[in-house]
Amino acid sequence: MLVRADHLKTSDNPAFVSLLDQLHRREATLSEEQRLLLKYLDAWQLDYLGDYGGARTSLTAIIRDTPDATLRFRATATLINVLGAVHRYQDAFAQLNQLIEQLPRVSDRELRWQGLGEIAQLLIAAGQYDLGADYARQMLDVIPSGETACKASYFIEHARYSSGQLGRGDEQAQEAVDNCARAGESVFANALRADIGSVLIQSGHPDEAVSVLEKHYSSVRHDQYLITILRFDALLAQAYLAMGQSSKARTYALAAWQASTPGEFTDPLRMACKTLYQIDQQRGDFKSALDWHARYMEADKAYLDDVSAKAMAYQVVKQQVQARKAEVDALAKRNRILQLQRALDRKAMEASRLYIAVLALGLLAIGLWLLRLKRSQLRFMRMAQCDSLTGIYNRKHFMSEAEHALRYVERSARGASLVLIDLDHFKLINDTYGHAMGDQVLRRAVQACQEYVRSTDVFGRLGGEEFGVLLPECTPDAGIERAEAIRRAIAMLSDQDEPGIPVSASFGVAFTVESGYELRQLLMDADHALYRAKRAGRNCVVAGKQGEGVVVA
Ligand code: GH3
Ligand code: MG
Ligand code: MG
Repeated sequence: MLVRADHLKTSDNPAFVSLLDQLHRREATLSEEQRLLLKYLDAWQLDYLGDYGGARTSLTAIIRDTPDATLRFRATATLINVLGAVHRYQDAFAQLNQLIEQLPRVSDRELRWQGLGEIAQLLIAAGQYDLGADYARQMLDVIPSGETACKASYFIEHARYSSGQLGRGDEQAQEAVDNCARAGESVFANALRADIGSVLIQSGHPDEAVSVLEKHYSSVRHDQYLITILRFDALLAQAYLAMGQSSKARTYALAAWQASTPGEFTDPLRMACKTLYQIDQQRGDFKSALDWHARYMEADKAYLDDVSAKAMAYQVVKQQVQARKAEVDALAKRNRILQLQRALDRKAMEASRLYIAVLALGLLAIGLWLLRLKRSQLRFMRMAQCDSLTGIYNRKHFMSEAEHALRYVERSARGASLVLIDLDHFKLINDTYGHAMGDQVLRRAVQACQEYVRSTDVFGRLGGEEFGVLLPECTPDAGIERAEAIRRAIAMLSDQDEPGIPVSASFGVAFTVESGYELRQLLMDADHALYRAKRAGRNCVVAGKQGEGVVVA
């Protein structure tokens, strides 16, 4: 019954109403889903009858309550119709945009059909005739079963009429009327007949208009569709006036006036007021004519205001949608830029990491290179300062270091001793055991000396087999003692390290207390003492200017 009622809405409205009645009596047996559909059909009928407030309340509740996306879509479509009727055009267009957005996801033919119909109707009402007709033509691709092309072709023809493209005897419009009539869709057939009647009056054929409109007048009454009833009355009044039948004209015009909802300023109302004003003017009833003229002016202004309000609302919502779209576009662009920025940052970071790594590697290489340089510098320095055979200071470096040490002890008024060492009969060792063995003995002798040399002492090789040790902060007695200890250590070499090879050394010692702090003088005095040690038989220590050699067996 619900489905049947749904199909009868416009084709047989009284039958539809009686089915609704029956359904209400069985409401207790309906499921929740069915009850909501019934509520929707009630709302549809309220809209049809012009109770827009009631329809709006019901539809809003259905949209809020229904879990069914299909019913919600239908209710939204009908709500758009209601919002249009109560002149809430901005709300209507806002809902319309939602409907248009949902449309690509709507595959159900019936639903698409209804949605496209609402879109077409509202766009045409807002003066967007071509756009409205486009949507109406899309309806032709989704005619649901049980429906015909009637409604779609009505919108297409009505758009043509509204934009002034309909002429007298228009075949396409007549064909649409016939199709609707054959399909039993009298509401749409009659609405188009009103358009045709209007065209006939405007083109100076009121008699033809009267014959079309009178012929279907009872059908229009049966439809109970208020706006078409008003149009028929207003058009007939206009046509009869044009034909000079003012009493008939007056009857129809008054009918339109009386049937109009107070406060609603429709095009038929405006036409009816104008006709009544013209009739009274012709009759010479100027007082009444003036009243109708005032009403006509009021209705005319309100109607025109409404027309421009629709057009305005359409533009406003269009602007809003475009602004939103632009905003979304801008956001999307900004996001893209941010993404790119992030990618760029990442790349830059990678690049800078690479750069840092290269830099660090470079630094490391430079560091290593510097280290090697330093090492080789140190090596060269050692080579320049030290003797290659024994590793101790060479003569040149010994002289400079000894000079430094002497300056230091001189400043602190402390003494120092200088010991000169010369290996005995070294030429013989070379000659007997070879030069290599001579070298070996030299190294061993130095090692033996080093046992008794402190870190503050200056020890160097002054010539072939001659060495010097400067002992800072060392008294003459301590100096002699140290020289004696070294002498013993060298003499021990012949027993331990170089068995069979006679190794010994002679020592000459000089003191700052005796010779002063000049290195040259100290060396000279120590050399003299050494000479005396050689003369005394070698392997002994001679200290000071007057010292005698002490020969140790
Ligand atoms: P004296 O006891 O009088 O000092 O006799 P001596 O043989 O030690 O003195 P002399 O000055 O006659 O000989 C020194 C020798 O030392 C001469 C030289 O061949 C040798 N000599 C100098 N430098 C080196 C060296 O680096 N290696 C070796 N194997 N022999 C060296
Ligand atoms: Mg010598
Ligand atoms: Mg010698």
